Amino acid sequence: MTECGNSSASAGTGSGGSFHSMWRELLPIGRHSGSHGYRRFAWTGADTECRAWFKEQAEARGLTYEVDRNGNQWAWLGDPAQGDAVVTGSHLDSVPDGGAFDGPLGVVSSFAALDELRSRRAEFAKPLALVNFGDEEGARFGLACVGSRLTAGQLTAEQAHLLTDGEGVSLPRAMEAAGHDPEGIGADPDRLARIGAFVELHVEQGRALDLSGDRVGIASAIWPHGRWRFDFRGEANHAGTTRLLDRRDPMLSYAETVLAARREAELAGAVATFGKIAVEPNGVNAIPSLVRGWLDSRAADQESLDQVVGGIEKAAGEYARAHGIDLDVVRESFTPVVEFDHALRDELARILGTTTDLKVPVLGTGAGHDAGILAGHIPTAMLFVRNPTGVSHSPAEFAAEDDCVAGVLALADVLEGLACR
Ligand SMILES: [Zn+2]
Repeated sequence: MTECGNSSASAGTGSGGSFHSMWRELLPIGRHSGSHGYRRFAWTGADTECRAWFKEQAEARGLTYEVDRNGNQWAWLGDPAQGDAVVTGSHLDSVPDGGAFDGPLGVVSSFAALDELRSRRAEFAKPLALVNFGDEEGARFGLACVGSRLTAGQLTAEQAHLLTDGEGVSLPRAMEAAGHDPEGIGADPDRLARIGAFVELHVEQGRALDLSGDRVGIASAIWPHGRWRFDFRGEANHAGTTRLLDRRDPMLSYAETVLAARREAELAGAVATFGKIAVEPNGVNAIPSLVRGWLDSRAADQESLDQVVGGIEKAAGEYARAHGIDLDVVRESFTPVVEFDHALRDELARILGTTTDLKVPVLGTGAGHDAGILAGHIPTAMLFVRNPTGVSHSPAEFAAEDDCVAGVLALADVLEGLACR
């Protein structure tokens, strides 16, 4: 292989054109005429159309196309058996009435970045693969990142056989109906062993880049997050005849705790949300006997999250005591931080620091991705593209054309830097 040519984020000519034409082709697939949102659920007709589009793009570029045992689609440039491959991609499925960008932006940008590298006459020293992971959103079978989880061995074939959709169709039967043989689903360590680095480009699901005025960012980590149930128990009584002084009203301590959650989250630069509540007896003219509130909290690191949740629990305890209320707090679920590979993250920053005039901040995210699943197994990184409203999983999800092209060029620079060393 020859040496790579010098690249520049402003030098490419091919990516803008190919990005826009691919984007236009994909846009109508699975879009609901009423909601204008996308319904590209795994192994349905819309998903099959998206997958056919991926195959066409791969073949039109002379790439070696394959579907792995778990139904993920791959397009290879170079020999996969060589090992130390550089892989990029995302997913094409959607949540119910999702936006156009979550997933497809990463897949379309992968093909466009390859076009850009070809227009730069880049020579690859390592194999390059583009990938579309199956069933990332989990909209149909209730579990996210099924394609990458299966590959990584985080979801066993046995567990996958138990997944069913709302109509009782199992995942293997759905795969079969869409033309994929489910016989071999399961961990694929040989495939992972051939990958040296995975980079997923994704629309940002928040406003950090909009607020900092940057087009593209590098992910540091997926924030640790969890759910806690707060049970405030008091005494039910008549809302008309019970003197205020005689009441043991759990709603008061709950309300004060909601405000404390906001305060603690602000202090730690985190988020904390009481989004669900159950009240007993739930009568307009009854003082509640029980208020049960569910807290969702996420922070950049474990220490901050502990500080937020600890602060909320402490405040809740004090408010409960002041009102004669019994309090129980139960952690119902927890997912620890996913740190992206530090060396790869720093390498991305170094590459983009030399190839582009853009400032490329490093930021955390509160959302899960295939990259988060693979991060436990292979060096993994993510690039985010600015989303001016921060809205995602909605038809309002958006990224400006210029920002999409900036993302393509950044991805091309990164792939060139990683695969041409
Ligand atoms: Zn996504």
